[in-house]
Formats: sequence, structure tokens, C-alpha cells
Amino acid sequence: MNIAVPHVEQLNRILPEEPLLMMGAGPVPIPAAVAAANGIVINHLGETMAKVVDQVKRMGRYIFQTETEWLLGVAGPGSAAMEMAVANLVWPGTRVLSVCNGFFSDRLAEMAVRAGGEMEKLVVVDGEAADPEVIAAYLKTFKPQVLTMVQGETSNTTFNRALPEIAAIAAEHDCLLVVDAVCTLSTMPLEMDNWGIDAVITGGQKGLSSIPGVSLVAFSDKAWQRVINRTEPMRHWTLDATLATNFWHRASYHYTAPVSGLLALHEAMRLVCDETLEKRFARHAVCSIALQAAIEAVGLELYVKPRTRLNSVVGIKLPVNIDGKAVCAHISKNYKVEISGSFGPAIVRIGQMGEQCRAHNLFRTLHAFGSTFKDLGVSVDVPAGMAMLESKLQQR
Ligand SMILES: *Cc1c(COP(=O)(O)O)cnc(C)c1O
Repeated sequence: MNIAVPHVEQLNRILPEEPLLMMGAGPVPIPAAVAAANGIVINHLGETMAKVVDQVKRMGRYIFQTETEWLLGVAGPGSAAMEMAVANLVWPGTRVLSVCNGFFSDRLAEMAVRAGGEMEKLVVVDGEAADPEVIAAYLKTFKPQVLTMVQGETSNTTFNRALPEIAAIAAEHDCLLVVDAVCTLSTMPLEMDNWGIDAVITGGQKGLSSIPGVSLVAFSDKAWQRVINRTEPMRHWTLDATLATNFWHRASYHYTAPVSGLLALHEAMRLVCDETLEKRFARHAVCSIALQAAIEAVGLELYVKPRTRLNSVVGIKLPVNIDGKAVCAHISKNYKVEISGSFGPAIVRIGQMGEQCRAHNLFRTLHAFGSTFKDLGVSVDVPAGMAMLESKLQQR
């Protein structure tokens, strides 16, 4: 042996003394029940796990608003669920239309190309939403078999509000609709069956307020028919949806399930069910709109206009000569609050997903956020923002 034992530090020397408040674009804070579940390891097969899986599927049907049997989990990030949806529905020669609003919707397109899809990209102007009429025109001329899009584009904080209309148009043209709801599921309405969506994707660490690393995807019956009648073999063994049914339907082995993460997800979903979707959507709307108004009262500008603005993640324009990285570093170091920078536009982003939408987290975040700009020499009115936040939250 010629490789020596490395010198490493204990985690408690690496982690901050006081946990940072996670108010970025994910991962988000997790409830105590989720954290506790994440500390447990059980057999990945057997009766207990079968019960957990059954309940996750039943809760998933409520949260996705679907009766489909084909709700499956995947060990991996939201991206693994995206790839599971895309790679099972797309193979060489499949015509795919991808609505590209930004970083994550582009990723869906990239995955479809890698799966061999014949790609047509509908690039939407930054900050705008997908237009059903434009999509209808593409459906008529290009005749895609699969359409991919995001409900909310986390990267530039835009919201594809017309998703229900787009789903109806896609169904009319016999085109399967794949929707990435990673940042939006359980924060705002999404009705898979009523709207007619064929595959819905979500991750754990955003709206659901679980840990990163276990994700979900639901296929409609129509989508499932395409999955099982593929004319080309599925290239990815781990992401093969038909193999995944071994674990998700037959309590048997596909790969060792991420048991702890699955228990955590179970608890996160149980808390969603306890709260009910109606109340959860209302909490998200009230909190996000209060935060948006408060940021404007501080004297800062929001990136996206109200009509296409996403509530799940709020994008704030950077004043001239202020660097996003400096803002994120300052707020983290001085106020122990984490927010996100951006993948392109000159913005910083504050999340409003799951546990982030709590009044006490909002007050701390807004104070830290406003004070950070003040510290960096920007003329802002923090008390006006705090008063606006209070008054908007009172209207609940
Ligand atoms: C975060 C996010 C993803 C990617 O999730 P990962 O867990 O980072 O792979 C995909 N789509 C949207 C809309 C997201 O917000």
C-alpha cells in the first residue's frame, strides 16, 4: 500500500456552527419528521417497505392529482426523473418538440436529443411564458410525438401559466406531454388527469420539502402504452421504467432502493396530505406574494412581470455594479441565510417552496436580504419592506 491515510476534518468542523437558513432555489429546509425518517435504514424489500411504497404511491396520486398506476420513484436527483420520463418515451427517430424557457427546459431538450429524438426547439424569450397558439402551430406542422416543457422555470423565475391549455392542444394532436414540475409540485395547482398531462416529474428537495436524491415520475396510461410498446430497446438499465415496476409494483428487486430517502419522502408527502393541497397552495401564494411586495417596498425590482412571474422561486434584479455572487456570499456570512445566484440573467433568487413559505423564515430572510444591499452600499428601505411583509401576511 503506497497511498497514505488522508488527514480529514470532522464534519462539525466543516459545517457552520449555526445551520444556515436555506432560502435559495433548493434544497429547502426539511421538517423534523423528514430529518428523523432520513436517519433510518430498513430492509429495501419486505413487508414494511412494501407498505411504505404503497403509501408513497397513494399519496403521490393525490399530490399529482392522478389515478394512474404508473407512478414510480427513482434514486437520483430531479434530473434522473426527467431522464426517466424522456428516455423511456423517446428513441431514435421520435419527433420531440421542446418548449425552451431557460436552463431546465433546455435540459429536457438536451436529454431528448441524447435519447435520439428528432428535435424541434421552441425557444421562448427570457421572462416570457409559452404561448399555446405558437405551440399549436408547431403541433400542426412538425407533428411531434412528444412535447416537453416545465411548469415553472426555476432559472429565470418564469411560469408557464397556460399549461392546461397547452395540455389540451397536445392531446388534440395526439402528442404526449411531459411536464417538469420539480419546483412547482405541491406549491401550486397541477392536475395531471384533469389537464391531460402524460408524464409529470418532480424531485424531493423543492416543493415537497424532502431531501435531495429521491424523485418521482408519473406516466399516464397513454404514455405507459408507448413505454411498453417501444420498438427500440431502452438504453438505460437503471432508468428503465418497466424494470422499475419490479420494485414499485411487485415488492421485488430492481436495484437497492434509497430506503432512508424514501422514508424521508414518505414523511414529506404525509405532511402535504395532512395540510391538504388547497391549504398548501394558499400558504404558498400568500407567502410568495407578500415577499414579492416586500422586496419592491425595500426598493428593489423583480425580474419577471406579474403575468408570467413564478411564485415558487422569486427573481430579483441586481442593481447596477452589484455582483450576485457578492450578495449571496454576504447574506450567507453575515446573516446565515442562503439564497441563490443565477445561471444567466443578472438576478438573485429566493425560493418559496415548502418550508421556505413560513412567516418566521420570511421575516428573517427579508431582513437579511435588505440589510445585505444596505451593507453593500445600495440605497434601500428595509423598514418599509418589513412593514409591507407584515401587512401582506396579515391579509391571510
Ligand atoms: C431543480 C430543478 C431541476 C433539477 O433538479 P435536480 O435535483 O437538480 O436534478 C429540474 N427542473 C426544475 C424546474 C428544477 O427547478
